[in-house]
Amino acid sequence: MSTTDTSEELLAYDEATERYDPVLGLEVHVELSTATKMFCGCPTVFGAEPNTQVCPTCLGLPGSLPVVNAVAVESAIRIGLALNCSIASWCRFARKNYFYPDMPKDYQVSQYDEPIATDGWIDVPATMDGQAHTVRVPIERAHLEEDTGKSLHVGGVTGRIHGAAYSLVDYNRAGIPLVEIVTRPIEGAGRWAPEFARAYVATLRDLVAGLGVSDVRMEQGSLRADVNLSLRPYGQQALGIRSETKNVNSLRSVERAVRYEVRRQAARLERGQRVVQETRHFHEDTGVTTPGRSKEQAEDYRYFPEPDLVPLAPDPAWVERLRAGLPEPPATRRARLAAAWGISTLEMDAVVHAGAVDLVEQTVAAGATPVAARRWWLGELARRANESGVGLAELGITPGQVARVVALVESASLPDSLARQVVAGVLDGEGEPEQVVVARGLSVVSDAVELTRVVDEALAQAPDVVAKIRAGKVAAAGAIVGAVMKSTAGRADAARVRELVLQRCAGAS
Ligand code: ZN
Ligand code: MN
Repeated sequence: MSTTDTSEELLAYDEATERYDPVLGLEVHVELSTATKMFCGCPTVFGAEPNTQVCPTCLGLPGSLPVVNAVAVESAIRIGLALNCSIASWCRFARKNYFYPDMPKDYQVSQYDEPIATDGWIDVPATMDGQAHTVRVPIERAHLEEDTGKSLHVGGVTGRIHGAAYSLVDYNRAGIPLVEIVTRPIEGAGRWAPEFARAYVATLRDLVAGLGVSDVRMEQGSLRADVNLSLRPYGQQALGIRSETKNVNSLRSVERAVRYEVRRQAARLERGQRVVQETRHFHEDTGVTTPGRSKEQAEDYRYFPEPDLVPLAPDPAWVERLRAGLPEPPATRRARLAAAWGISTLEMDAVVHAGAVDLVEQTVAAGATPVAARRWWLGELARRANESGVGLAELGITPGQVARVVALVESASLPDSLARQVVAGVLDGEGEPEQVVVARGLSVVSDAVELTRVVDEALAQAPDVVAKIRAGKVAAAGAIVGAVMKSTAGRADAARVRELVLQRCAGAS
């Protein structure tokens, strides 16, 4: 099992997708943000001391009995409804038997042939060939289950089991409720399959986040994707043999894992070899996938109905109340905002991609124009967030503050260069925009007499430029404007300075 076969041959990506049609299938596990676990009252706080959030039930001790968490059921139904699924009027839990050291009972309580939600769809916006598309992805099912604990391998270099001196198990996560969302095969993405897989997961993440049922933090594992991929020759109906890359933990990794599998499988097919049906692991560091369990070793899970839990039969009236209380679907919201802001679908995609929809919306609500709000969040602030490696929402500036900076700019009292300094001050914790302006002495030289004095000084120092302007070369005024901006440390309104320069030159002749 210790095959770390990283020496597999790869076909060039373009060649691979010219010859073979990729088919995707995605299984996403969403950890619900309930206060307590799926079948017991243990808390679910992330990052607690190992094995401090456990009890006989989630440790699977003999004699303990599970009780279903009603909030988890409600969350699963809301996810199902948001995915346009049918909600089962009657369903039950099943035991999925397999052995994992971090799974205390040696079976997982899940749902098998009777999931709570079936047959839905989600519209996924994706940019392919430079064009904005919306692709409807069919959802096979969404079911409830419990999470496993976590193994910690100590003493090795990589943190993996191979080479470790010993392993520790933390059962805090064991029993935390999960909803697993499974697509039907996704066909037709062609060479855009990696980007499309990423767009699907991002769209699903936003949808779940909008429901407020999970914090959807991929880096903390509260949203994890299993990526199925197979290839077939173009025109063939039957699906090829797929690999399943497990627990991919970031959007970027989803894209990379698909790209790698396309190249790896295409190389095998080109050599006349079969693709092995197996689970694989994606390695963030090297960007490759390596084999996990192969079909020969695939477990027979021996599913059977969970005898310790009664079936779930959600009251139809309850389901309808939940349906009526769903938030506006993200796709509808995006279309509405794009229309309100007067921007194209592609421009809206950029806002979505930057994770700035809420921020821009709140900045506009605080009084900024959509153009200015978008320009700040996608420009200077995105650059700053990128520099310090944090998300836009984690930057130390609120939409309200950005709106006030915009107001300062638009009241013509603050040129761009100074506005950036105000933002820098707010980000550095120097207080509100207005306080930064005062503390940093950023107020603009707007006093007409003072500005005229500075302009005259600059003109006096560049008689050759003045001569050019008077000779009709108006463009030469730029040099004077530059000199004034320099002497005022950017604290002058460039347009006003230019006006003055032309005025003074004309007036003196
Ligand atoms: Zn417990
Ligand atoms: Mn699962």
